[in-house]
Amino acid sequence: MIRISAGSAACMGLNTSQMDAYPTTAYLLSGNLCLMNCSFCPQANGENEALNRLGRVTWPEFSWAEVENSLIHAENKGIGRICLQSVRHADGIETLLDIIARLKQLSQLPISLSAWIQNEEEAVRLIEAGAERISVSLDVVNPLAYQNIKGGSLQKRLDLLFACARRLPGQISTHIICGLGESEAEALSLINRLVEAKVTVALFAFVPLKGTPLEKRLPPALDSYRRIQAGHYLLQTKAAELSSFKFENGRLVTFGKAAPQLKPLLAEGTAFQTSGCPDCNRPFYNERPGGIIYNYHRKLNRNERETALRLLFDSLKM
Ligand code: SF4
Repeated sequence: MIRISAGSAACMGLNTSQMDAYPTTAYLLSGNLCLMNCSFCPQANGENEALNRLGRVTWPEFSWAEVENSLIHAENKGIGRICLQSVRHADGIETLLDIIARLKQLSQLPISLSAWIQNEEEAVRLIEAGAERISVSLDVVNPLAYQNIKGGSLQKRLDLLFACARRLPGQISTHIICGLGESEAEALSLINRLVEAKVTVALFAFVPLKGTPLEKRLPPALDSYRRIQAGHYLLQTKAAELSSFKFENGRLVTFGKAAPQLKPLLAEGTAFQTSGCPDCNRPFYNERPGGIIYNYHRKLNRNERETALRLLFDSLKM
């Protein structure tokens, strides 16, 4: 059995649900019983009433027989990638090696894997098995918050992430969740190091989920998230350097001297779209349809662009 996000399942012809937006990546989830205990996640320890959720998304379970023909539907419906996300399994990466082998038999689509790996060798084995990219998720940027929320050492996770990036250049990604105790300076400094190491960064806004220890924590302020998105976009496209950004008490206050020239680069609104692997759009992973949109799963319309840019620029000294 494998779990598939409700939107991906609709694209794959596995259900007839009408979705507000369809994904351009097929999102699969392996496992129920995660060995980790992240305070923001319904999969933690596998004991939660919200177990069928990851982010805001529900993940119904399907048999491999059902999946077999449905991946063809997915390719015809504009799906350009498979994203296999996984809880931390008791058998390490063995289940994942098996799933990747099955997926490779069923589809030509590139596979992104997001899993808890323990060393570089595991990353290499997973790539050799057929994953195109591997995400070594950081999730939490502030070291103390990391310890409290995920348990363990951020530095150790960073060491592994950078070691994987050196060993598998251009094939490593990470996930960062904003709104978990980090300052904008911390987030953008780390993003800059990741960009320099050719690690692809997928930004998320924290979503409080019922039944988790952080269910009462608020999501990040939208203007703060927009500043991090814009900074990430400018660093990633090499349009700006971190050394020109100015922070006050950890908050980004200006992109620096070149700020007026940077304005047109942000005008299209690409900075506010979902970031991460090619073809990954994750519709409504962070947001309710009709609610505040942190990551747009498609190009922004004019009104959305103007609103996002106004919020950003009004909050900065340009
Ligand atoms: S960026 Fe998207 S496709 Fe890549 S690992 Fe993250 S969720 Fe999956």
